[in-house]
Amino acid sequence: MKIDVTDHFVHVRGASEHNLRNVDVDIPRDAMVAFTGVSGSGKSSLAFGTLYAEAQRRYFESVAPYARRLLQQVGAPHVQEITGLPPAVALHQRRGAPSSRSTVGTITTLSNLLRMLYSRAGTYPPGAARLDAEAFSPNTAAGACPRCHGLGVVHDVTEDLLVPDPSLSIRDGAIAAWPGAWQGANLRSIVSGLGIDIDKPWRKLRKKDRDWLLYTDEQPSVLIKPERDRIDYGYYGKFWSARKHVMHVLADSKSDRMRDRAMRFVRSVPCPMCHGSGLRPEALAVTFAGRSIAEVNATPLTEFVALLRPVAGLSEAGAATSTARSGETTEVAVRICADLVARLEVLLDLGLGYLSLGRRSTTLSPGEAQRLRIATQLRSGLFGVVYVLDEPSAGLHPADAEPLLDVLERLKAAGNSLFVVEHDMDVVRRADWVVDIGPGAGEGGGRVLYSGPVPGLEQIKESATSRYLFGRAKPLDHRPRTPQGWLHLRGVSRHNLHDVSVDVPLCVLTAVTGVSGSGKSTLVTQVLAEVVRSHLGLAPEEPDEAELEVDVQHASGLESFDRLVRVDQRPIGRTPRSNLATYTGMFDAVRKLYAATDEAKARGYTAGRFSFNVPEGRCETCQGEGFVTVELLFLPGTYAPCPTCHGARYNAETLEVTYHGKNIADVLAMSVDDAAKFLTDVPAASRSLETLREVGLGYLRLGQPATELSGGEAQRIKLATELQRARRGHALYLLDEPTAGLHPADIALLLRQLHRLVDAGNTVVLVEHDLDAITTADWVIDLGPGGGDAGGRVVATGPPTKVAKAKGSATAPYLASRLV
Ligand code: ADP
Ligand code: ADP
Ligand code: ZN
Ligand code: ZN
Repeated sequence: MKIDVTDHFVHVRGASEHNLRNVDVDIPRDAMVAFTGVSGSGKSSLAFGTLYAEAQRRYFESVAPYARRLLQQVGAPHVQEITGLPPAVALHQRRGAPSSRSTVGTITTLSNLLRMLYSRAGTYPPGAARLDAEAFSPNTAAGACPRCHGLGVVHDVTEDLLVPDPSLSIRDGAIAAWPGAWQGANLRSIVSGLGIDIDKPWRKLRKKDRDWLLYTDEQPSVLIKPERDRIDYGYYGKFWSARKHVMHVLADSKSDRMRDRAMRFVRSVPCPMCHGSGLRPEALAVTFAGRSIAEVNATPLTEFVALLRPVAGLSEAGAATSTARSGETTEVAVRICADLVARLEVLLDLGLGYLSLGRRSTTLSPGEAQRLRIATQLRSGLFGVVYVLDEPSAGLHPADAEPLLDVLERLKAAGNSLFVVEHDMDVVRRADWVVDIGPGAGEGGGRVLYSGPVPGLEQIKESATSRYLFGRAKPLDHRPRTPQGWLHLRGVSRHNLHDVSVDVPLCVLTAVTGVSGSGKSTLVTQVLAEVVRSHLGLAPEEPDEAELEVDVQHASGLESFDRLVRVDQRPIGRTPRSNLATYTGMFDAVRKLYAATDEAKARGYTAGRFSFNVPEGRCETCQGEGFVTVELLFLPGTYAPCPTCHGARYNAETLEVTYHGKNIADVLAMSVDDAAKFLTDVPAASRSLETLREVGLGYLRLGQPATELSGGEAQRIKLATELQRARRGHALYLLDEPTAGLHPADIALLLRQLHRLVDAGNTVVLVEHDLDAITTADWVIDLGPGGGDAGGRVVATGPPTKVAKAKGSATAPYLASRLV
């Protein structure tokens, strides 16, 4: 890789990836460069699709010549020449599904250090042998708990399932899990014979007796005396505790009905042997600063650092103080602790101190995950590298964005370049250089409108970014609404919310605000959603949700809702087989249209023929995917166009059928804007297309695979699908950061649509950080004041103007500055 040292610029010539129109642009190195423009304008096509892709291609060519042939198949980015390009590292927001076993500790690689610490410098029980580092990982054979194999959970019975109604006596059937009929009567006689009162309500029995009846492994035989109407002769009966009975049925019964019944009494619970840590007992017996590795994994990072600091600060680490049992003050311990502290401090700086190392990555927000990866990069010691970042401020409260920018500055100061695709104007202002792309999206974009220091963008009148950056954009005009009633939640407890009371106003738009970790998602997307869902009698959405209690003491006002709609950023599909057209249902209308042509009728083609999922119509080489997978060692899931259909997805016969001169593959290749013109006579399709344009998605291609859509695009597709139903109603709409990933001009479009939903009688609740969105809300619920244990309280509520004046709110000062 040859880096041009004559100037400090990356020179791009003739870039035409996706919608880029033969772009020439010079971008400074060793600087923070913001790539701006409305969504779909081509920012990612330039930053990721061209610059990062080219750096990546050169890297693979240099290290793995054998990969060249495969890379040719994947295709190099469409660009004539790039000079002065250093190696690049991409930090995407969305990046495949994280594995359920990865945690904050594994993402940051801090877990490795921590295991080393326990292995080399922990305190061991007397006589115990030192363990290898891997014995402290539940993901290795050496470390996994023998009972749950490292999973941390096992299936077990619990008292509330075994005894659903504790006011009943044993005679009346308190232990629901026990068999009925003769066997049940038999067990009752045994219990009575053991001297336990079977006529007392269950809850009045002694705890010791209750536990014994439910869980014991003992099986005493008891002489049962003859009983009137039941048994004529005495005999010995064997006792079965409720658990033993249930487990016996699950393990041995041949009857599906019996097993199904028994399943009702078990749920997955933390493993009793390792208490959910997944680690074997020998590893759990080792401590550092008095805590086991499992305890440390559950400790918030702020507290963990405090434990390590005293050791990290020991200047005279005497090997003499080391004993066979403990290495806590050895040189090794000091070194590892100092390293851990330095790395943890970056996480604290980024406002992530409320997380713990053991926190599963599946439960992190994308913003949290990206900050973890940024922090990890900072310690990598690389320099001379371009970091290409995808909206680092997304999902961050303005108070959290500031420290993040400081960390980016440090990456830059260490000799790196930062290319940042960004929508937050406060971040753009801090950049050294801005590359603005536009003016519109798709066909209407793809030009560089400006490339230079930020102030110069003010002169570019056709730039939407310029309007928002320099305050010329017209604010959304909005008259605040008055709530038409209230949903009251009392005594809400979950995660960091402890016995909180919240009032949500009805028939208005509410923004729930607060710094990262303050409890917004817990309140809105979990508690509120679950309460309303269970009121509507709907099944839980997440499989694990069933295992969580709805932790609300009292809720009123739920009867105002007849529907719950969550519009989140989760993908609309996980395979390239689903796309915009299939998701919105519009493709059904298109397929019917093609089946109704004379040519199709003559050939006997039905609507099914025009589905790329059906064998008759699709291309058999790629099975209708349009792509074939290329296995590359380091690039998981890379696709190359299908050599037979070249991406069309259909076989040649199907493509012979045309409507107004276009075949079905041509339609899938159209943008929403073009399709709206082409299908104007097809009402079922044009209604969908119109709503998609209204939320700013006119630039998307109908066949764009679900896997290529950003979270923000997926969310707006869901919203458009909702809007197209256009029902008046009493629905509750819950949206988690709908503005993430959107340019302010797109945010304005989105807000207009959300307000339309409210005008139609619905209630909308947003988790939101964007100040424009918050200022147009009718009501604000501000949580905090901090993250984790420092948050979880309602700090302020009211219209935005009132919350802007609230004392002790992290949101107030930002809101106030926006409202002047
Ligand atoms: P931005 O980052 O500004 O939102 P993108 O660079 O993602 O915009 O998209 C610019 C244009 O390129 C859009 O019209 C988009 O639909 C199109 N596009 C994006 N990804 C692909 C792809 N993988 N294949 C074809 N077109 C794409
Ligand atoms: P916000 O949405 O405001 O960023 P969250 O509701 O995600 O905040 O988190 C609030 C608190 O609850 C934080 O301390 C967070 O670490 C904790 N938390 C969130 N989700 C989980 C989870 N699945 N398991 C354990 N703790 C969680
Ligand atoms: Zn276990
Ligand atoms: Zn094909």
